[in-house]
Amino acid sequence: MDEPLTLLSIHAHPDDEASKGAPTVARYAAEGISSVLVTCTGGEEGDILNDELDHPHIRENLAEVRRQELDEAVRIIGYDRLHLLGYRDSGMPDSDANGRADNFANAPLDEVAGRLAAIIRAERPQVIITYSAEQKRYPHPDHLRVYDITDPAIERAADPNWQPDPAVLNIDEHFLAGHEEITHPWQVQKTYWSNGFTRGRILTMHAWFEEQGEESPFADWVEKIPDDADAGITTRINIADTVGVGRDALAAHRTQVSPGGWWFKVPLEVMATRHPWESFTLASSLVGKGDVDDEGFETDLFGGLR
Ligand SMILES: [Zn+2]
Repeated sequence: MDEPLTLLSIHAHPDDEASKGAPTVARYAAEGISSVLVTCTGGEEGDILNDELDHPHIRENLAEVRRQELDEAVRIIGYDRLHLLGYRDSGMPDSDANGRADNFANAPLDEVAGRLAAIIRAERPQVIITYSAEQKRYPHPDHLRVYDITDPAIERAADPNWQPDPAVLNIDEHFLAGHEEITHPWQVQKTYWSNGFTRGRILTMHAWFEEQGEESPFADWVEKIPDDADAGITTRINIADTVGVGRDALAAHRTQVSPGGWWFKVPLEVMATRHPWESFTLASSLVGKGDVDDEGFETDLFGGLR
């Protein structure tokens, strides 16, 4: 394989790229692997969770503000390129936003998957990180939709008989228009589901709060989370060197996080020593699984490809 290695991550809203997978992407970007982010919506329905920024002029321009926050997070993580899929945030079920025809969840599958397929052909990733169908703790319609569109987009990208309809390509025009590749099929080799908050990670953070004699924000979670919650994990990426990147990227989403919030409390060195990895599920692979560690976890998203 003489194609450059490329990792493409698909996320629903601005800030999801920071809360899920950022240290992993930062690690691969630092290795020189081309890294690409697709963000499906503008996050227009996000609540302002930082009291200091909860002003009418920010709320009225939230899409623009969140776009700036996203650009900053992209820079911090080290993504080479960002593509906006161009849809509106679908809001939560039964909200007004959820009924809009221009939102991500209501847009026709052919259009949405077609846009993503064109980006896949242009970027030629061997590996894609997306979401699983299981979004129990946070079943946001946009998160579920990310799962729904990924396989159809990968199939279209690989199908020599599929050609992008120019009507669906009104995204990143300057970039995609110059790419003859979008007419050439491209086969993605491995697809992973991101497992942001695993049981192992929650227990590690919970234990630290208890040691400090502080009230743990995870107490409820720890009670409810099943013992086998992490059973689907196939792959653990060591992020000891980049664990702080995720936190910095999250802090860049200033309207979406409270500066004194629990996200930022557990010291980085605690995470880097006690839980120095992000976890993924290998959902499909044309090259099998790469090398595994002593516990049977694959240790490289590009295992089997280099
Ligand atoms: Zn989200």
